[in-house]
Amino acid sequence: MNAEEHSYKVAIIGAGMVGAASAYALTIRHTAHDIVLIDKNEQRAQGEAMDLNHCLALAQPMDISSGGYETCRDADVVVITAGAAQKPGETRLDLTRKNVGVVKSIVADVMAHNSNPLFLVVSNPVDVLSYVVFRESGLPAHRVIGSGTLLDSSRFRFLLSDHCGLDPRSIHAYVAGEHGDSEVLLWSQVHVAGVRLNEYCPVCTRECTPDFRNSIQDQVRRAAYEIIALKGATYWAIGLVVQRIVAALESDQKSVLTVSTLADGQYGIRDVYLSLPSVIGRDGVGQVIAGPLADDETSALQKSAEVLNENLRSLGY
Ligand code: NAD
Repeated sequence: MNAEEHSYKVAIIGAGMVGAASAYALTIRHTAHDIVLIDKNEQRAQGEAMDLNHCLALAQPMDISSGGYETCRDADVVVITAGAAQKPGETRLDLTRKNVGVVKSIVADVMAHNSNPLFLVVSNPVDVLSYVVFRESGLPAHRVIGSGTLLDSSRFRFLLSDHCGLDPRSIHAYVAGEHGDSEVLLWSQVHVAGVRLNEYCPVCTRECTPDFRNSIQDQVRRAAYEIIALKGATYWAIGLVVQRIVAALESDQKSVLTVSTLADGQYGIRDVYLSLPSVIGRDGVGQVIAGPLADDETSALQKSAEVLNENLRSLGY
């Protein structure tokens, strides 16, 4: 890095599975110059920082450490991956209440040291918590981003690519709305190598059964439940999602990513955080690309917003 180049710093709050996987992805893709891990379990953050430092001789030089909230002073991005996990017998709403408390105290601790951070919220329920961070921080909405359905969109692209026998990077497909059960797969927007899916299918040699779309939809929606049942948590793909968003912020890439952002009248939805394809650059979320959707997609998106609104209302927002 030459002397004039800005050193890009990422603070990760919550050095659990998701925080550590995010730090690992940032390290091996050399997306930041400085990573600090903060966790109420200080030993865990310290251990992860030590382990990650041992990547550097095989990756590229950077600063990786653990510390307290004072280290957020010069952080460009603060990633929130802290949170309680669901306990047996605990309802989703109980867990939400608990995690709202966690992010509120994190926001206060960060803002005490840094008055203008960019927050990237990953902890679940990500759309609700992103809204809470937006309201509690007083930051402009473009500086509070939720990882939203970028993970779900990646799952959607993978499943389509697997079916079509193509590289997932040659497939454009978005999941919008809540990161959760009411999310909406935007079939009308799917393009394979630039060709609309409906026009691509007749030239493809693979056969699609009539319930092909339902099965893909189910697999995308159920992916997290299935992985959690198999191995307890999901973290690799979300780690790369964090890296992808930070890369777009750091290099001002103007990438269009389905992140959770404050809806401002798109499709008649407002004052709720949910995912829509959005332009990500150095200052956070830029334009939201609200192109024409099929009627059933628009109404499903509005229903998804209602689900999120009800959640926020039950929390007093
Ligand atoms: P984990 O239990 O492995 O790690 C959570 C960490 O947060 C722990 O190390 C814990 O000590 C820390 N923590 C808890 N309260 C804290 C506080 N007040 N201050 C600082 N640190 C605190 O959990 P995980 O598997 O890493 O998951 C973390 C979160 O990410 C969960 O909410 C999970 O649901 C979410 N997640 C989101 C997505 C997504 O797509 N948005 C995907 C996977 C997981």
